[in-house]
Amino acid sequence: MTDHPMPQQCPFCQAQGPFKRHALRETWWRDVPTESRPRVRRGHMVRWRCVTCQQIHTIQPHWAAPPRRMTQELARWIQRQLAQGQPISQIAQASGLDGKTIRSVRQDLESMRHNQQAVSQIACGRFLHASIEST
Ligand SMILES: [Zn+2]
Repeated sequence: MTDHPMPQQCPFCQAQGPFKRHALRETWWRDVPTESRPRVRRGHMVRWRCVTCQQIHTIQPHWAAPPRRMTQELARWIQRQLAQGQPISQIAQASGLDGKTIRSVRQDLESMRHNQQAVSQIACGRFLHASIEST
């Protein structure tokens, strides 16, 4: 029962506890397929109540990749498949996910790449600025 850690901080009032376990629900997340057959990993969704503000929030296992019901390993596997140029329909079929979910993972990747580009452009801009000043 190590897959449902205690919350560190309340997302509503930022209190660091105490928390009371409100509900425990066994469920499953999509996992990396083996031999092109979909697999799932079972775990618990735990709902905690913050004693300070009485709000309830959900904690997923540390190996889950919210907001989607898939493991972090599966998310990385999809990234690798996309990088290798695998068609979305094939990735969807192997993993048991729908094409829409695969596309949303790809969108996350694209926005991450875009952010990285923006950061390096800023860095580049600073560098240019610095070299203009030094001349
Ligand atoms: Zn709270």
